[in-house]
Amino acid sequence: MTSERLQFHEMGLDDRLLKAVADLGWAQPTLIQEKAIPLALEGKDLLARARTGSGKTAAYAVPLIQRILTSKQTVREQAVRALVLVPTKELGQQVQAMIRQLTAYCARDVRVADISGKAELSAQRPILMEKPDVVVGTPSRVQAHIKAQNLALHALEMLVIDEADLVFSFGFEADLKNLICHLPKIYQAFLMSATLNDDVQALKELVLHNPVTLKLQGSQLPDSSQLQQYSVKCEEEDKFLLIYTLLKLGLVRGKTLIFVGSLDRCYRLKLFLEQFSIPSCVLNSELPVHSRCHIISQFNQGFYDYIIATDEQGLDNPTADSQSAESSGKKKKKKKTKSKTGKDKEYGVSRGVDFQNIANVINFDFPASVESYIHRVGRTARADNKGTALTFISHSELSLLEEVESALTGDSGNCALKPYGFKMDEIEGFRYRCRDAMRSVTKQAVKEARLKEIKQELLNSEKLKMYFEDNPRDLQLLRHDKDLHPAIIKLHLKNVPDYLIPSTMKNLVNPLSRRKKKKLKPNPKGVVKTAFKKNIRGKNPLKSFRYTGKARKQNNKS
Ligand code: AMP
Repeated sequence: MTSERLQFHEMGLDDRLLKAVADLGWAQPTLIQEKAIPLALEGKDLLARARTGSGKTAAYAVPLIQRILTSKQTVREQAVRALVLVPTKELGQQVQAMIRQLTAYCARDVRVADISGKAELSAQRPILMEKPDVVVGTPSRVQAHIKAQNLALHALEMLVIDEADLVFSFGFEADLKNLICHLPKIYQAFLMSATLNDDVQALKELVLHNPVTLKLQGSQLPDSSQLQQYSVKCEEEDKFLLIYTLLKLGLVRGKTLIFVGSLDRCYRLKLFLEQFSIPSCVLNSELPVHSRCHIISQFNQGFYDYIIATDEQGLDNPTADSQSAESSGKKKKKKKTKSKTGKDKEYGVSRGVDFQNIANVINFDFPASVESYIHRVGRTARADNKGTALTFISHSELSLLEEVESALTGDSGNCALKPYGFKMDEIEGFRYRCRDAMRSVTKQAVKEARLKEIKQELLNSEKLKMYFEDNPRDLQLLRHDKDLHPAIIKLHLKNVPDYLIPSTMKNLVNPLSRRKKKKLKPNPKGVVKTAFKKNIRGKNPLKSFRYTGKARKQNNKS
C-alpha cells in the first residue's frame, strides 16, 4: 500500500522540513498532501476539497514553508511572505502550532505569528513590526492591522484561505474584499474547504488564478471501516436517561465530544451530569477565547473525558437558548448573523479544530444541517484513527435524519447511520434517578451556572493570563471541568446500586461511581481503546470493546 504513494522525501523538500515531518511521526503523506504538495511546489493555485481531518493544514503549510525557504535564499529582505486566513481563533492557534512544528528546524528562517487572538491591536503591533514570514489571522483582524498600518502585504507571495466555506458565512466578506486590495498583483493562492458551495465559488473568482481543483474524497466522512455511525430514537427525557446510563455505566469509552443545540443546553446537560458526579467541560462561544483554547489543549492532553459543546450553528438561533428542548434540534435555517452580545462569532468547535484522539461524538441534539452533522462527526476518526458517532434523534427530527442519510449515502448506496439497538426498557430502573436529577436542574440553576462559568473563565482568562505567561506550568493546574452546582446535588445519585444494573449488563459495565476524579494526569489516548461497549443482550450491532489492562487495573483499584 505504502509503495504506491509518493513519499515526503520524493517531493524535493528541504531537509529541515523532512526532519520535522519525521519528528511528527508521519510515515507518509495523506492523500490530499500527496496531491496538493507537488502541485503547490510547481506554483499552481489550488482549490482543494478535502474531508475534515485529512491533513489539509500540512497540505498547504509544507509547500508554503518550502517556498519561503527557497525564496529566502535569493531575497534576504525580511517581509511578510505568506498570509493564512482562518475563520476562527481556535483554528488560527492550531494553524500556527502546526507551522511551528513543521518549522522546528528552521524557526529562525520561517517565523510565524498568529494574530487572530483577542489581544489589543497595539499589543500585537510589535510582533508585526518584526515582519514575520507567515501571518495567520481572521480576515477582520488582518484588515484591522492593515488599517492601523501595522501590517504591509506588498511582498506577499502566498495567500491561503482555510475553511474557506466559513469565511463568508462568518460575515468576513467585506473585510476580505478590502484586504485583497492590499495584496500585490501576483501571488499564489490556496483555498481549502470541506465543501465547495456557492460561497467558495465566489471566493474562487476573487482570489484564484487558473486553479487546479482537487476533490479528493467522494464522501466527506471516512468509511465504516474507520468511522461507525449510529442513530438512536429517543425523546427528550430518554436523551437524558440514555446519556446518564451510557456515561455512568462506562458504556461509552474514550474521549467524547457531546454536541448540544444551544448554550443553555450546554449547562443543562453539564449540571445534569454533575448530579451523578460525572465531570465534564463546556465549550461555547460565550467563553473567552483564552479559556476555549486552553480547554481544547487540555482535552487533547487527556485531562478530561467529556466536553459538551455547541457548534457554530448554536449561535445562529438566538432564541434557541431559552427554548424547550424539543425545539433545539429543529433549527433548520442557516442564518448568517453577527454575534449577539457576549458571544464570539469567530468561534467554531465543530469546524477545523483539531481535537485529538476523540473516540466518540454524541449528537445529544440533532445538528441543524447536513454540513453541521459532517463537521461535528468529523471531529472523530481523524487521520488514520477510528471513531464512533452516535446521534440521538426525536420523532420530530426524523426528516432531518433522512436528509443526512441521503447526503451521506451518496455514491456508495450503503446506509450511513445504523440503528443503535439499545434496549431502553433495560434501563427503566434508572428513570426515577434521571427525573430526580432533571428536576434539580431548573431554569434558574442553568442561568446561574452560565453566569458562574463565564465569571470563572473570565478570571482564568484575563486576570491570570499574565501570571500564566510567566508560570506556564501552573496553567496545567487550571481545570475547566469543576462542578458548577447551583443545582442541589443529591449525594445518593453519585452511586449506582447493583440492583439497578440490568443482569444482561453486569459483566459489561464500569460504573463511574467509584472512579476517582482524575487529578491532572494527562491521558492522551483515553483510558480505554475505543468507543461504545457491547450492548444489553449482546444484540447490539456495535462491536464489543474490552478494557485495556490499564483501565482494568484502575477499576480494580477503585
Ligand atoms: P488537519 O486535517 O490538517 O486538521 O489534520 C488532521 C490531523 O492529521 C492532525 O492531527 C495532523 O497532525 C494529522 N496529520 C497530518 N498529516 C499527517 C500525515 N501525513 N500522517 C499522519 N497524520 C497526519
